[in-house]
Amino acid sequence: MTDKLYTPDMCGSGQVGECAHCGMQPDDNGHDGCLGDLGVDVMNACCGHGDMDLMYIQLGHDAYNENPNKLRYSGQRALKEINKRRK
Ligand SMILES: [Zn+2]
Ligand SMILES: [Zn+2]
Repeated sequence: MTDKLYTPDMCGSGQVGECAHCGMQPDDNGHDGCLGDLGVDVMNACCGHGDMDLMYIQLGHDAYNENPNKLRYSGQRALKEINKRRK
């Protein structure tokens, strides 16, 4: 593991190191450790690393192959989705 801290400007780049906000490593899916287990249909997720507005969650969906626009929520909407899924 790298010592590199993941800061808000690095949100969405694919986390492989510690989050500057919560100090946690990402889980096996590459989701921020502080988000917990969000379920298998979540493709990408980030806590914003300290900046709430940059928090996002991206879901896979059935028509994914036909539609390149993945379902993506950010900010408060993402927080809602994440809290709903958090186990
Ligand atoms: Zn975090
Ligand atoms: Zn983070």
